[in-house]
Amino acid sequence: MFEFIMTDVVARHRKLNGSKVWVTTGSDENSLKNVRAAEAQKIPVGELCRRNADLFIALAKKVELSEFSFIRSSVKETHWKGPQKIWELCDKAGDIYKKKYSGMYCVACEQFYTDSELETGLCPVHKTKPELIEEENYFFRLSKYQKRIEEMFKNDEIMVFPQSKKNEMMGFVNQGLEDFSISRSKMRTKGWGVPVPGDESQYMYVWFDALCIYLTGVGFQYDEKKFKEWWPASMHVVGKDIIRFHLIYWPAMLMSAGLPLPKSVLIHGFITAGGEKMSKTVGNVVDPDELIAKYGIERVRYFFMKDIPTFEDGDYSEGAFKACVNNELVGNLGNFIHRTLTFAYTKFGGEIKSAPNESGISVLGEVGRRREEVNKLLWENNIHEAMLKILEIGNIANRYFQEMAPWELVKKDKEECEKVVSACLNMCMIIGDLLYPFVPESSERILGFIGMKPVPFGELGEMRSGFSVKEPKIVFEKIQEK
Ligand SMILES: [Zn+2]
Repeated sequence: MFEFIMTDVVARHRKLNGSKVWVTTGSDENSLKNVRAAEAQKIPVGELCRRNADLFIALAKKVELSEFSFIRSSVKETHWKGPQKIWELCDKAGDIYKKKYSGMYCVACEQFYTDSELETGLCPVHKTKPELIEEENYFFRLSKYQKRIEEMFKNDEIMVFPQSKKNEMMGFVNQGLEDFSISRSKMRTKGWGVPVPGDESQYMYVWFDALCIYLTGVGFQYDEKKFKEWWPASMHVVGKDIIRFHLIYWPAMLMSAGLPLPKSVLIHGFITAGGEKMSKTVGNVVDPDELIAKYGIERVRYFFMKDIPTFEDGDYSEGAFKACVNNELVGNLGNFIHRTLTFAYTKFGGEIKSAPNESGISVLGEVGRRREEVNKLLWENNIHEAMLKILEIGNIANRYFQEMAPWELVKKDKEECEKVVSACLNMCMIIGDLLYPFVPESSERILGFIGMKPVPFGELGEMRSGFSVKEPKIVFEKIQEK
């Protein structure tokens, strides 16, 4: 859910600012994990995958993910031609060979580990004992791409957000890249997965085929016109546990196949719950569906984008969630917006014709600078910091309202008061507009009260005079304690 919301924030920001956006997501279903889980549940593995994918698709819709395609890697008709073509291209480039292999394999990770990577013999992620696997597999000649991958990082051919992850990967590359196995025996996969072209006894390694979802999601091998239009991807959004696949294996595969590289990778951390890693055994797993049903998608979007640092791990707790919503979304932003709109509507019949006075111009200058920073931060994909800046604007706006005390001023000097309200309405407009990528529905409602819609960054202008305010209703509601 976190990743969907994050992707959507970036997508909406880009779209609003004139980019064409297509989002591709999917499920990598061809894993041994799924085969075993299905066996345990005594259902066909295809059935298990379909159920899981349906849940994901429903969730993507609930978080209002922008227009997206969802590729299920086990569905032959819409995916298999992609990885099979990539395999053939890599093979033609001389980068695939067969070799006997034995190694320690973590099924949960779907990854081999060397002895030095294991921690006291256990998978460093799952703390479980990996399985000793011995078989003849196909390998991808990753070592051949050592220099090219080094260059790729040096020249920022793929922009990495945050930079620290790029350094981490460069460190890994410097240790020397080793070829990696890209197939499994049919027996071990129980015939589940994408068959290797020209060798029915072998099935593709789940990552080899799953990464190709990025390609088939925009038509590769199925709709070449669409593929030309959308590839290379501007961005991949991934968790920090799978960056080696995205920043080393995947670029090398694309280089080998002669395809352009994605332009950037945005890497996020993990969410803990109540300070602990979410796990079924601990019983602290947060169900996104429940959260959305209970609190509404806009609050959920707000909390996760504002409270979780974009590039680091962050924590969810119900207490923090309520505090964020009540103190910030309602107490800060909602309070200012509602006070201003209500005041303009009740005291001026909604018609504000004056321009802001000097004090208003000065405060709008402060706000304008922060507005530019928000936009810059969003282009740098720093969603969390951008949201914090919007709260800063909220603080400035509330302070101005408080200091100007329009409810007093209106009794003494209505003309002067109108100028103050004009400045406040300008700030409502700016806040409403800036909130669009984060809480699109609320943004549209706020702007709707002043007869506007979210607009591209450059189009909002410095300042407006002349507002017609419709009867306002509360946009952000407090979560009541029960
Ligand atoms: Zn593992």
